[in-house]
Amino acid sequence: MAASRAKKSSGLQPIVGNDGRLYFNYGVGAVYALYGTAEEEIGKVTISACDYSERRGELYAVETLGGKKNIFTERPVTLERLSAHFSFCRAQEVMPGKAEEIPLLKSEVTAYYKGMESKRKRDAAAARIKLAETYPAFAGNEKAKKEAEAALADAEAAEDHVRVSKLIREYMQILGERKKACERAGIDVRIFEPVQKCPFCGGSGLRENGEICVCAWQNEEEIKRWNAARRLEEKFGREWALYVRDEGTQGTELTAADVLPEGGTNRLSDGS
Ligand SMILES: [Zn+2]
Repeated sequence: MAASRAKKSSGLQPIVGNDGRLYFNYGVGAVYALYGTAEEEIGKVTISACDYSERRGELYAVETLGGKKNIFTERPVTLERLSAHFSFCRAQEVMPGKAEEIPLLKSEVTAYYKGMESKRKRDAAAARIKLAETYPAFAGNEKAKKEAEAALADAEAAEDHVRVSKLIREYMQILGERKKACERAGIDVRIFEPVQKCPFCGGSGLRENGEICVCAWQNEEEIKRWNAARRLEEKFGREWALYVRDEGTQGTELTAADVLPEGGTNRLSDGS
């Protein structure tokens, strides 16, 4: 593996929108005026595109307007570099940009899969308690089911076909009893069955090489929505609020009227 030359992105983080989703700090299409030490305007720049890398964080293409010499010579410009430069030049937003959402992150995928796994365990535990109340024989049924499965496997291995068909009949009876009891208790019997795990990632959402698995991409919107809800709950309780993260100084809390994504959410335009 090649040594990484670029430093991992420092403390600057994407913005958490009032919908709980993650957004780029600078909107695409936004125009900023930059100022020199003598307060004179040294030029205007626009954010022409943005991209995200797990390793480097937010990346921007920044163009200098008016045919002037490029103020930002590197391509792409990292968030750290852009923020530092904008702060140094007291950048003023003259035209807002469009808020762009950060693409699906590995951390979001991992959190979602872990969250789903523990939810499934919680649901199954709650269902067991509920079932035990309405169906006292459930524990015995579970035991009988496990024993029947083991016996069936043995008989199949021994190619004892007579025994296999007898055991299957018994097994179906156990399952039928279980299903009926679940129906009476209003429980989906599938909650007790092992889940089919994705063959590519083993149910973790990330493949062995660390990339996001196809099963997660197929579920991208749901994963984003789940993470957004989690963020809103963690940060603001269940209140519908907008918190724009402003590194190192203060957060800006806006009302629900300032709904994303239209209208721009980048840090320099808020509150101005
Ligand atoms: Zn997968």
